[in-house]
Amino acid sequence: MQKYECDICGYVYDPELGDPDNGVAAGTAFADIPEDWVCPECGVDKSSFSEV
Ligand SMILES: [Zn+2]
Repeated sequence: MQKYECDICGYVYDPELGDPDNGVAAGTAFADIPEDWVCPECGVDKSSFSEV
């Protein structure tokens, strides 16, 4: 699955890992993350992420 990188801080969202600390299960595609999810490192919203 496609990884996405935060444009602000460089955090990479890997769908294989998800973001379990913030309620996103492993195996969740970036497009399926809830719209209110924010970058766990710097707090920007999904619109500030780009495909890696
Ligand atoms: Zn970030």
